[in-house]
Amino acid sequence: MSELTIVWVYPDLLSTYGDRGNMLILHRRALARGIPARTVEVRSDEKLPAHGDIYLIGGGEDGPQASAAERLIADGGLHRAAADRAVIFAVCAGYQLLGSSFFAKGEKCAGLGLVDLHSDRGPSRAVGELAGDIAPELGLPPLTGFENHGGRTHLGAGVRPLATVTTGVGNDSVGEGVWAGTILGTYAHGPALARNPALADLLLRWATGEENLAPLDETWTGRLRAERLAAVGRS
Ligand code: GLN
Repeated sequence: MSELTIVWVYPDLLSTYGDRGNMLILHRRALARGIPARTVEVRSDEKLPAHGDIYLIGGGEDGPQASAAERLIADGGLHRAAADRAVIFAVCAGYQLLGSSFFAKGEKCAGLGLVDLHSDRGPSRAVGELAGDIAPELGLPPLTGFENHGGRTHLGAGVRPLATVTTGVGNDSVGEGVWAGTILGTYAHGPALARNPALADLLLRWATGEENLAPLDETWTGRLRAERLAAVGRS
C-alpha cells in the first residue's frame, strides 16, 4: 500500500498520561512489518488533513477538551475522515467528544456526534487500573489500562462497548469504551496501545486491509501486560 498516514489530533490540547505513545507504537509496529508509515501531528490552530488513515485523539482536562470539541466541529475534518471510513482511536476526553455531548467544568458541551453516545458526570472521579474483556468478535486478549476521568459515558441503543469491565469503571462500571465500525473509543490510558499491542495491530489491520500481519517480538509488551494484569488479579 502507499504510505500509511497516522494523524495525532491536537497534541497541544489532548495528550494526557502519555497518550502520544499510541502514535509511536502504531508507527513502530507498522515500520517493523515493512509497512511504509508516517506520523503527522496537527495542532489545534491547524486544519486536519483529509486523507489520514488513522486518527488518534488523546485525553485532556476539561478546558482543553471543550476547546478541542469546538475546533473539531468547526474544522469538519474528523467528520470527513469518519465518512471515508478512516480508523479513529480516541482516548478518554477524545472518546467523550466523539459523542453528542459531554460535561466540562460543569457545563454541557456539544460533541462531534460521530457515535451515538453521550457523557455526563459520575458521582466520583474514576482513578486507577482499568481492565476488561474485549468484545469476543474482535478476538483480542483482555484490555488493560489506567483511567482518570470524572465523566461517565452512556451508549445509544445498539451501540457496542469495546469491552466488559472486570476492574475499574470505564463507561459506567459495566461497559468500557465503544466499538463502532472502524471507530474505537476507550477510557484506557497507559498508553493503551503500549499495554494492548493486539489493539494496535487491529487498527493496523483495519487501516491496511492486511489480515495477516507478521508477528513481532512481544518480550517487553508481554512483561508489561503480565505485570499490569497480575496487579488486578488477571492473567
Ligand atoms: N475531562 C474528562 C473527564 O474528566 C476527561 C479526562 C481525561 O481525558 N483524562 O471526564
